[in-house]
Amino acid sequence: METVTLNNGVAMPLLGLGMFQMRDKSECACIVNAAIRLGYRKFDTAALYGNEAVLGEAIRRSGVAREAFFVTSKLWVQDAGYDKTLQAFERSLEALGFDYLDAYLVHQPYGDYYGSWRAMEELYAGGKIRAIGISNFSPERLTDLCLHAKVKPAVNQIECHPFYQQREYLRLMNTMDVRLEAWAPLAEGSHSIFTNPVLTAIGAQYGKTAAQVALRFNLQRGISVNPKTVHEDFLRENLDVFDFVLDERDMEQLAALDTERSEIIDHANPSTVRMICGCKIKSA
Ligand code: NAP
Repeated sequence: METVTLNNGVAMPLLGLGMFQMRDKSECACIVNAAIRLGYRKFDTAALYGNEAVLGEAIRRSGVAREAFFVTSKLWVQDAGYDKTLQAFERSLEALGFDYLDAYLVHQPYGDYYGSWRAMEELYAGGKIRAIGISNFSPERLTDLCLHAKVKPAVNQIECHPFYQQREYLRLMNTMDVRLEAWAPLAEGSHSIFTNPVLTAIGAQYGKTAAQVALRFNLQRGISVNPKTVHEDFLRENLDVFDFVLDERDMEQLAALDTERSEIIDHANPSTVRMICGCKIKSA
């Protein structure tokens, strides 16, 4: 698996399995087992997803050394703040059954995330987390955090796919040495992505599917991806994206698909903020 080097020197696989909306325990265990068998070594979970324990158990039982994996989890907004973050991190670690995490991200830029960041900086300094990062941070919030933090975020995980390419933000993050990691690299199936004529025609030249072209597009822009699936065929397909290269003309055609907006969520809308902050993962 190809890796990318984060701003602290840690190598992170460029492709992993996204684990959002994988709540069914036996389905989740089956797909993680299959993924490990097929060679996936990166997994993207979160306290919110409710599947950390299943993931940890599958990794422990796999017979593959813990150090071979790169596991990311995320702090939910309900646990924002210094003390709550330390406790939430311990809960995630305990659920996973690990003694360290590869990456831990602030899931949403709401509540006292500066307090969370201080806690995460301490956990990082203490060797409990190999890389700390953020998710869904806008350019202004990312810039402000970078200006005021002791440790700069290693990654910012945001929505990014051929229909929402984040070109300007990618340039900014590159200048700040913060890695853009894509969530919804397959646009969660929106825009009829799997039958899109441009993606399909480009894929036909290489014997690849529209999904593979979409993933490859981000990879070639230096963006890591965690496509989610509960189907073994798709697991295989999504991993098989390292043996072809999109040429300049392909990249230009794909660039033209950008709508520069999300069809999934609008973080700039106050009702989105209310909805996210109202989402509880445990009783207070
Ligand atoms: P996604 O990966 O863009 O799309 C997942 C959808 O695509 C599922 O319906 C899946 O179907 C389907 N699919 C997967 N591979 C396919 C293929 N080769 N051909 C046809 N269909 C395929 O969406 P996502 O799950 O939202 O995003 C990926 C990961 O990013 C998440 O799982 C999560 O880890 C992370 N994420 C993070 C945030 C955040 O706020 N930080 C937000 C959203 C997502 P099946 O499942 O039926 O197989």
